[in-house]
Amino acid sequence: MSDTSLRLVWVYPDLLSTYGDQGNALVVERRARQRGLDVQRLDVRSDQPIPTSGDIYLIGGGEDRPQRLAAERLLRDGGLTRAVDNGAIVFAVCAGYQIMGHEFVNDLGERSAGLGLLDVVSSRGQAERCVGDVLGDSDEALGLPPLTGFENHQGITHLGPGVRPLARVRLGHGNGTGDGTEGAWRDTVFGTYLHGPVLARNPQIADMLIKLSLDVNALTPVDDTWYEALRQERIAAATQPA
Ligand code: GLN
Repeated sequence: MSDTSLRLVWVYPDLLSTYGDQGNALVVERRARQRGLDVQRLDVRSDQPIPTSGDIYLIGGGEDRPQRLAAERLLRDGGLTRAVDNGAIVFAVCAGYQIMGHEFVNDLGERSAGLGLLDVVSSRGQAERCVGDVLGDSDEALGLPPLTGFENHQGITHLGPGVRPLARVRLGHGNGTGDGTEGAWRDTVFGTYLHGPVLARNPQIADMLIKLSLDVNALTPVDDTWYEALRQERIAAATQPA
């Protein structure tokens, strides 16, 4: 990218956008504009080619059938993989996260291939879905404050040696395998089970994506009062005894 522009791609809003995940695109767009960047946001429907020239790609969650269709179309298209090969950043939520892995179990109970951009494999969890608020401590390599979000998924995700967990859960299920991990990341590709939208609840992650795309260590501070109030309200709600 140039120093002053950012191409933000919101992938398949017609298939993958549950629990307000589109808010993630709004948050990145706004916080980049607040830093004086000229943001070009492209919303790419599943019948359109994925541009390979994006800087940041955001992908949301979805129900099981749209998730299978999205994975098939992304694989056939190939653009997202080429973009990552060129250094693009990906932030994927829930169904989008599972699609970034090697495979997941689809709505037909069969294994669907993912893009293999993250060394993870997803399978079906217990009969009970993982639902509720999540609070976690982020990977210290990322230098993020505690992560807050909301999860609702049937699939569980096993991490391979090629990724690190995004966080360790204090509350909630995260990857759901019982090892206390939540999400996964490597280099410029990030996956999480958290909705919320997660970047509204954790604007520090949005800033991390922008810093990665600009290849800088710091951004001008912006007013985080609104975000901080949301964070504290949700963390309090999650930690209060029922
Ligand atoms: N369909 C997937 C599952 O249930 C993802 C759900 C979601 O994206 N919220 O595991």
